[in-house]
This record gives sequence, structure tokens and C-alpha cells, in this order.
Amino acid sequence: MVDGLIKEIKAGGEIFFFDIFVCSADYRNFEVNLLPKESQTYPEEYWEKRTLSPGAFIIYLGIGRKLKNVEHHNLYFNESWEEHFDDVFKQKKWPEKPSYYVHVPSKTDPSVAPSGGETLMFLVPVAAGLFDNSEIRESFAEKIISHFESLIGQKIYPFIKVKRIYAHKDFINEYNSFKGSAFGLAHTLTQTAFFRPKNKSRKLKNLYYVGQYTNPGIGVPICLLSAQITRNLIKREYGR
Ligand SMILES: Cc1cc2nc3c(=O)[nH]c(=O)nc-3n(C[C@H](O)[C@H](O)[C@H](O)COP(=O)(O)OP(=O)(O)OC[C@H]3O[C@@H](n4cnc5c(N)ncnc54)[C@H](O)[C@@H]3O)c2cc1C
Repeated sequence: MVDGLIKEIKAGGEIFFFDIFVCSADYRNFEVNLLPKESQTYPEEYWEKRTLSPGAFIIYLGIGRKLKNVEHHNLYFNESWEEHFDDVFKQKKWPEKPSYYVHVPSKTDPSVAPSGGETLMFLVPVAAGLFDNSEIRESFAEKIISHFESLIGQKIYPFIKVKRIYAHKDFINEYNSFKGSAFGLAHTLTQTAFFRPKNKSRKLKNLYYVGQYTNPGIGVPICLLSAQITRNLIKREYGR
């Protein structure tokens, strides 16, 4: 850092020099863990007070049987929808009666599973920051798969060939995601528009941000809009 500017960055043992730096990685991780305190627009105390969007508990399965009465996209809404959201946002615990999504791409594209089999992906919204170990993962996965078995009236467990669970600690290890959240900051009133972390650093003149923590927010098309906003900011300031 020189004169309020980032001049160089070290990555993979190499040093890179540049005029303008755009960060598309996890905003909180970059600010808190990679910038010195005096260069952080949003220090640790800021993030600790934020409301995070849910984390995602994901189960990938490859099974050696065909399933009936299952579509490409399947949504299960528990009767106690509000209870699930209370568990995610208020109680911050593993949901007792979760609603979930099941993706079965082999229903429309047989090439994604060996003949006679199916591929499934379960996605359960869960609170960010939950403690997650192999015991908890296995038992929660069992709860979801068994529930789905009873819902569709067909066995899945005896036919499992491949199983992979992806949850909080994977989001942290692979994406430096804050508290293992899958989507970053929630879109609450006080974390939207003017109140959302800025696309430009207030501390370093040539540092910009894009992605789901910035404006407008979460989702692939929305993140592309954030890149447009940042592009416009850079164009306005640098004329290119
Ligand atoms: C399970 C799931 C399902 C979703 N479904 C949808 C959907 O159907 N529709 C939709 O619109 N959106 C969906 N989303 C949300 C959407 O994917 C995200 O909002 C969007 O991808 C976020 O983009 P981003 O650029 O902010 O972050 P990311 O796409 O996470 O990109 C950030 C990148 O930075 C990298 N990184 C982190 N730290 C460093 C570092 N120190 N150095 C270098 N690189 C680093 C990470 O590895 C990552 O590749 C889904 C998200 C999840 C998790």
C-alpha cells in the first residue's frame, strides 16, 4: 500500500503490479484477512453485526435405479415453513422440519447418469455459521434422504453408488466464505441499496469490489450487474 493505493499483490509466490484492483472474492475475507486494519473499510466488528443469508446443505447422489414420480426440479415445502425459517434466521440451528429442493438432472439428460441410474442433488437452506462435522452431516443427510424416500415411496439408500455432502466447512475451505454462508449478506432492509457494502473502497483509491456482497446483491445476473456498476465507477474516475 502506497499513498492510499494498492500497488502490487502477491499470489502463488508471484508479485503482480497494476493500476486498478477489483476484488471478486469474498468481501469480508478480503477486507479482514488480506488488508491491513487501517485499509479496511469494513473491519471485523462490522461483519459480526451483519445478517447472513442461509448456508446450503447439499447432498450429491448417484444411484443405481430409476425413480418414478420425480421431476427434473422438485420442491418440498414443509407445512411449517415459518418454523424452518425461524431455525435458519432466529434460532440458528439445524432445522427440525426442513423444506428442500431436489434436482434430478438425469430426468431430462440421461447422459449425466449411467443407464438405469439417476443423479440427484438435494439443497437444504440452513443457518450460516452452524458447526458442521462428519457425524452431523451424515445424520442430517440421512434425515433428508429418508424423508424423500417416504415422500416418493421408493428406496434410495440401498442403491447409492456415489454420495458427496457439501456444506459450511467446504464453503469456507474452498471459497473463504464468511461463516460458510452460501450467498453472503442477506437482503434485509439495512443491508440493501445504500446500506450494502460499497463497490468502491473508502480507504484505498484504486480498490473496487464486485459480487454478491456488493450492490445490487445476490444471484448470478445480479452479480453481473454489480460488475457493470463497478465498470461504470472505474470509467467515471479513470475515463477508460
Ligand atoms: C448452492 C447454490 C445455488 C445457487 N443457485 C443460484 C441460482 O439458481 N440462480 C442464481 O442466480 N444464483 C444462484 N446462486 C447464487 C450465486 O451463485 C452467487 O450469488 C454468485 O455466484 C456469487 O458470485 P460472486 O462472484 O460474488 O462469488 P463467487 O461466485 O463465489 O466467486 C468468488 C470467487 O472468489 C474466489 N476466491 C475466494 N477467496 C479468494 C482469494 N483469496 N484469492 C483468489 N480467489 C478467491 C472463490 O474461490 C470464488 O471462485 C446459488 C449459490 C449457491 C451456493
